[in-house]
This record gives sequence, structure tokens and C-alpha cells, in this order.
Amino acid sequence: MSDQYQAFAKSPIGKFVIKNLGLPSPTALDRFQAGAPVIQGAVLLGAAVNSTLTGAISQVLSNIHADTYAGNNAQLQQTAAEVGLNLRAFNSGDKESKFKALVFDASGIENADQLKDLYEFFNPVARQIEASGRVIVIGTTPEKAGSVSAAIAQRALEGFVKSVGKEFKKGVVAELVYVDKGAEANLESTLRFLLSPRSAYVSGQVIRVSKGKAVKVDWAQPLAGKTAVVTGASRGIGEAIAHVLARDGAHVICLDIPPQQADLERVAGEIGGSVLALDITAADAGEKIKAAAADKGGLDIIVHNAGVTRDKTLANMKPELWDMVININLASNERVNDYLLNNDGLNANGRIVCVSSISGIAGNLGQTNYAASKAGVIGLVKFTAPTLKNGITINAVAPGFIETQMTAAIPFAIREAGRRMNSMSQGGLPVDVAETIAYFASTASTGLNGNVVRVCGQSLLGA
Ligand code: NAD
Repeated sequence: MSDQYQAFAKSPIGKFVIKNLGLPSPTALDRFQAGAPVIQGAVLLGAAVNSTLTGAISQVLSNIHADTYAGNNAQLQQTAAEVGLNLRAFNSGDKESKFKALVFDASGIENADQLKDLYEFFNPVARQIEASGRVIVIGTTPEKAGSVSAAIAQRALEGFVKSVGKEFKKGVVAELVYVDKGAEANLESTLRFLLSPRSAYVSGQVIRVSKGKAVKVDWAQPLAGKTAVVTGASRGIGEAIAHVLARDGAHVICLDIPPQQADLERVAGEIGGSVLALDITAADAGEKIKAAAADKGGLDIIVHNAGVTRDKTLANMKPELWDMVININLASNERVNDYLLNNDGLNANGRIVCVSSISGIAGNLGQTNYAASKAGVIGLVKFTAPTLKNGITINAVAPGFIETQMTAAIPFAIREAGRRMNSMSQGGLPVDVAETIAYFASTASTGLNGNVVRVCGQSLLGA
């Protein structure tokens, strides 16, 4: 599906019209290319006094060979040196240097006064971030803070980050990561994802990292040797998920309803995957999924992507439309998970990734059925996460406006509003959702459980 306005905005005449009418001018977002470095461009690193995560952050920056700069901060320089990160000097009076990422360790902030450290780091360089840049603030989980003052100050980071996401424009994204005590070693998959263009359309999000087993992975193929099922894989977002998981090394079993068999075979053929033509609402769907993965070493990843909309205002909604949407989008996820978890259908360190929607967060006119189903998916993730064992995790993505057949069917005016009402002034691409799912699915994402990350370009809906 194409965004003709964005193409127009890039043309000489389009630039002229847009400038003079004050219309939004969407930046062409950087997207990940296989084989490219995690980040292309300089990183400026900062830290509040007495921060505790600088070592872990520096370790990741060192692992990805990031060209990292820091101002005059002896504590930070010493910590970085200890993990082998070679920091280059940055003079805060320098207004010429440009940065692809601004990374700030805010874990030392323990009261409202110390929030000033954020201001002092970001204010002088706010105009020096490149297009498609990254702002990442890393703090500690407020709910587990040692004092009310510290909890308040850490919680305040969220408002700061979300405002930066709305202010910086040019496709710059801003995120907050809360790290539990003892979870420093679980930060790497999150930082790699957020620093790279894989997170092109993820902005204004809060990601919580908890303690999990630290694992070593081949970052070029983080899913090597894994078997994944992707539901609704014959087109749209599901097709992109299948491609990205296969690119990252997984064998992908592409599942869709039997009438989609031809497209399903095309997608599976393109990625060396296999086909499972199955209606996910079938009573024996869990059993069939387990059986399909049996000769591939068992199932490691299930992505519940299949979904439908049947929009009608509540007064006009027929009961069968209600039932259908709840059954496909929500009840089938629950049934399949229950079967897999109770019948050894998911390997140790398995990953369940669900697809919610910002409709499930904000609600939407004509979508009582769909929004209920997608809010239920968030409930499924939140309430299942603490019950999981054997290193299995469950997380969800909540896409905003993504350019697919589903959104192409929306009436023009509503479609245009959905596309532009976000910090990127554009819709996302199926690959943006797929990259976020691959991040949750990664073998290295052991510390991510119970997260819901919106892939919505910081949509104003439900924010
Ligand atoms: P799509 O309609 O292009 O694809 C959905 C796929 O699911 C289709 O291939 C369909 O055949 C399959 N499917 C439907 N019912 C099924 C069933 N009973 N069993 C097996 N497969 C079934 O939609 P999409 O835009 O790619 O959406 C994918 C997911 O993302 C959905 O869960 C959707 O709700 C969610 N989502 C999409 C957007 C968006 O902007 N496109 C936004 C938020 C959430």
C-alpha cells in the first residue's frame, strides 16, 4: 500500500506547496538493511551522577563498535573504560557535531531536583540530532524504587521522553527503558533494537527489562535453529513477520486459512519455510501447530498475528460479527496458548508474541468488537506473563496505522487522519511491526516478559 502524499512531499513542487500551506512533511525513515551496522552515526552518551547502568550500556556500545562521545564526566569515562569502550571527547560548546543517538543513563536520578541532569544533558544538543535519530533514556523500575522520591523521579522520565518524541521531528524516536535491579545483563537486545533502524516506527514507548538468564547469541542470526509459527502469514503484516523471522535464522511455518493457500505457498517458498493451512479458530488448532513443528525440533516461537476487523457501530452490529472478531483475534490466541503450554507444545525459552492494536488501547468508533478483542490481547499478555516457566516469555506489539490491505479499506478521510496523527506524520510499514516482533522473539530477549510496545510512530490515539 502506498502513501502518495509522502511521495508528493518529496517532489520539488510538493516541497513548495507543503512549506507554503504548513502541511506535515514526513521524513523518509531509515530502515534496517541486513548486514548493516547496528547504528550508522555517532552516539553521545551521558549519565546522571551515581548512575548504575553506565557499565552495561557502555558494554553494549562497545560490542556494536559504536562511535561514542561523552562530555566531561569522570565517573562515566572511568566506567566506560573498564568495559573497553573508547569514548571520544565532546565539548558541550561544540554546536557543529551531529549525533545519530543521544543515550542517557538516568538511573542515578533519585529526586525531583536531580531531574535537572536530564535538562543539562539534552538541552545543549537538542538541535544536533540527525534525521531518524534515537533518543534513549534508561532508568530503573519506579515500582521497585527504594523511596517515594526516587519512584517519583523515575516515573517523571516518561513525560520527558514522550515530549521529546513529539518535539524533535525529522523521524527522531524517543524511548524509555526501565531496568530492574540485577537485569543489567538483559539490556543488550533492547539497546540494539532501539539504537538500530529496526525500531523506525516505534516512539514514545516504555520498555521494561527484568532479570532473565543471560544468553549468548549470534547477533547476525539471533533465531538460528529456531522454529516459529506465524498466523495470518499469507499477506500484510504476517507476511513481513515471516520474512523477518526467516532473515534472522528461524524456520517459519506459515499459517493461514485454506482459501489463502496459494499466497501462503508463495510466502513460504520465498523464505524456505513450510505451510500450515488452518483456521486458527479450529478446536484442534493448538494440536495441529504442535504437530507441524514436531519434526523441526518442536516449536520455539508462536506469533499470533491473524486478525480481522468487522467494523459497525454497536447499535448496528450483528451478533455474528461480534463473535467472529472476538473468536479470531482473542479467544483463539488463548486456546492455542493453553494447549501449547499444557501439552509441552513450546520448547524451553520459547516466545509467544501477540498482536494487539492501538484500538485496544484508545478504543475506536465502530470497533467495539475489535477494540475489546485487542484490549483482551493486552490482558492475555499481562496476566500470562507471571505464570510462565522454563524461560518462556509473552509480549505484544500494538500497531498503529500500518500500510496494509486492512488500512487501505478504511474510507479516505479517516485513513488520512490515521496516517498523519502521529509524530512521524506517516503510516508505518509491515516490516516495522515485524522487526519489533523479531526483537521480542530473539533468543537474547530473556528479560522481556509482559511488555506491550506500540508500533505507531507515537500516534496521538490513546497516548
Ligand atoms: P490482513 O487482513 O492483511 O492479514 C490478516 C491475515 O490473517 C490474513 O491473511 C487472513 O487470511 C488471516 N486470518 C484471518 N482469519 C484467520 C483465521 N481464522 N485463521 C487463520 N488466519 C486468519 O491484516 P494485517 O493488516 O496484516 O493485520 C495483521 C494483524 O495486525 C491483525 O491482528 C491486525 O488486527 C493487526 N493490526 C493491523 C493494523 C494495521 O494498520 N494494518 C493495525 C493494528 C493492528
